[in-house]
Amino acid sequence: MENIFSSSQPRSPKIPETAIKPSRKTSDGKYLDQNIIDLVDITQEYEDGKVKVFDKLNIEIKDIVNKGQFITIMGPSGCGKSTILRYISGLQKPTHGKILFHGKELTEKDHIPMVFQQYSSFPWKTVLQNVMLPLNMMGIPEEESRKRALSMLKIVGLNGHENKWAQYPLLSGGQLQRVAIARNLVANPNVLLMDEPFGALDILTRRQMQVFMRKIFEDNNAFDPTIILVTHDIREAVFLSTNIIILGDSPVNVKNIIDIDLPDIRDMYLKRHPKFLEYVNTIEDIMENLKKL
Ligand code: ADP
Ligand code: MG
Repeated sequence: MENIFSSSQPRSPKIPETAIKPSRKTSDGKYLDQNIIDLVDITQEYEDGKVKVFDKLNIEIKDIVNKGQFITIMGPSGCGKSTILRYISGLQKPTHGKILFHGKELTEKDHIPMVFQQYSSFPWKTVLQNVMLPLNMMGIPEEESRKRALSMLKIVGLNGHENKWAQYPLLSGGQLQRVAIARNLVANPNVLLMDEPFGALDILTRRQMQVFMRKIFEDNNAFDPTIILVTHDIREAVFLSTNIIILGDSPVNVKNIIDIDLPDIRDMYLKRHPKFLEYVNTIEDIMENLKKL
């Protein structure tokens, strides 16, 4: 049988190298070697402590320089997945505990971007204006912002759509999510958060977006972010991830961390491979044994 990992399936051409590669070096030229994100002893209470979502939750995410990681968080509905992403993006603070970014407590200046399921693009702005926005906010000169945004739009395959309003039905659901992904990646974040980003898309577009997202991740010339994704879709998680964190129980804690030992370069044919299916079955079994919250 042909080995799909070395298959001769034609692949799309490599995404062009851009001038926006992030620097992971400190000012004295050394690479950063701390974890990129640490959640330390997180407790989350509501209603004066009557509801306790987390009790001393700890999660450690390593920084893999020049490669990045694709981490997926899974677990029953209501277990706190979105809450974790909100902590990391700075939208919510836990009742107790700390969130560290590169070993230091997260501050408002860190601006870790997040792609949501819907309404991720600003419909009153054009596609180009949407993508330029983070660069404008950083004070980057207009001409350079435009250049970088256009280069980013090429990467996400939206060249030719720059001047359209970022709204449905001028753009499809998948294209609007690509605008959001472009906007969130254009400033070269070290971390990108995605909360069920493909949840509102039809199944075919969703599959295309998975391949697209994986390609973005594999392109180390342009990016090497640590991506932290929340999804309910086990196949999506296995296809995209380098590691899957499964949460469960109440108060919620980490139940399993699964390293996905599949090739670095992936295409849709991987989904038929026995090793892929084995991971899917294993995770399905783990999830079925978790208590519903
Ligand atoms: P997930 O994304 O995994 O579905 P969330 O992070 O949205 O879960 O929510 C985690 C838990 O926090 C849920 O069980 C929810 O009921 C609880 N929660 C969130 N806000 C409040 C609140 N204001 N009062 C009580 N419980 C809350
Ligand atoms: Mg959620």
